[in-house]
Amino acid sequence: MNYRETLEAIRRILDARPDLAVRHDLAKQVVRAFRVPAFYEMSQRCNLWCEGCYYFENKDRNARQDEQKIESWQAFFEAEQLRNVSMAYFVGAEPALEQDRLRAAAGRIPYGKIGTNGTIPIDKDIPFRIGVSVWGDKETDTQLRGGSVLKKALRNYEGDPRAIMLFTLSPWNLHTVPEVLKMCRDHGIPLTFSIFSPTQTYMEKIQAHQAPDNRFYRVAASRGAPVFDDDGLKRLKDSFYWSLDNFADTVLFSEAYADWICKPGPLYQLDEEGVATNCASRIRRPLRYHNAQLESITPKCCTPDIDCSECRLYSGGWSSKFVPEAQYLTSPTAFERWLDMLEVLGRIFLYPLPEIYQSLNQREPVRETA
Ligand code: SF4
Ligand code: SF4
Repeated sequence: MNYRETLEAIRRILDARPDLAVRHDLAKQVVRAFRVPAFYEMSQRCNLWCEGCYYFENKDRNARQDEQKIESWQAFFEAEQLRNVSMAYFVGAEPALEQDRLRAAAGRIPYGKIGTNGTIPIDKDIPFRIGVSVWGDKETDTQLRGGSVLKKALRNYEGDPRAIMLFTLSPWNLHTVPEVLKMCRDHGIPLTFSIFSPTQTYMEKIQAHQAPDNRFYRVAASRGAPVFDDDGLKRLKDSFYWSLDNFADTVLFSEAYADWICKPGPLYQLDEEGVATNCASRIRRPLRYHNAQLESITPKCCTPDIDCSECRLYSGGWSSKFVPEAQYLTSPTAFERWLDMLEVLGRIFLYPLPEIYQSLNQREPVRETA
């Protein structure tokens, strides 16, 4: 479906269901917030050693390079402001280790999302969404990250309106979903989900039965790859539905997204080299990626060592929903499922939320009929 056909299909749906116009306006505002997006690698260091880390468990990553002084970061973000960057993804290793750099972007870029492990509080004067990575309850946390990271993160961000927990699920921690949700609800922090997607470096070690290296490859040496098979994806989808039914006040997710992300097989169209052609996390204009030396570089995406055919990461997933695919334009009910996704997407990534969110009424989620 081309752009004009998409617009026409939307117009027909809105003619039939004018009550959806406000929600469509909201979706358009959400999409507009991402019109000039950019990734910034704020730090090459981290204070944790997580199993299968996307950043460090990458054989192509160069050794740590020299970084610029804070004055250069300030000048850099001034230039980014002049370039009208609308949405910043502050990634790491661990951005909370470089808060002066985050502060240099504050007030210069309207929206930003910081990806952090949550163990180092980010100062209140840094006005961006804070996505805190979660890997499970105390037991799985200790096994996979070397300590009770979640407990510390919840203490640091209790009631903080900037914070949202990002729980990366795998077969090793799926059973901890109820406990983690309860902990987040008790601390007043919403939660969304991602799905563990292994790097090729990690998979090569597993497939070669390599001995553990006591760095980012420890547990998989004896347990194998923590990836969902087709039956696991069904259990995962059940878990998403269960979470939406039982923790509606805490979970930021949507049934339409759950249906899509739990589909077996590759989620994206792949080119002859196996790279996703329709993933909106690809570093292509207008999206740019800047490394910690403040150079604009063009990796495949912000997690370049992940095999696109196995990828179920939340970043690529949500950002690929900006334009409704044909399946969401077949009826007003199908279109509502896309609107649900866009509303959730905005809640996950944007802080503060655009005012238009206040005009939304509480609604029941729209379920697909069999
Ligand atoms: S917190 Fe993130 S960057 Fe640090 S080791 Fe864990 S996964 Fe890697
Ligand atoms: S986010 Fe995933 S699907 Fe998209 S380019 Fe990166 S690895 Fe491929």
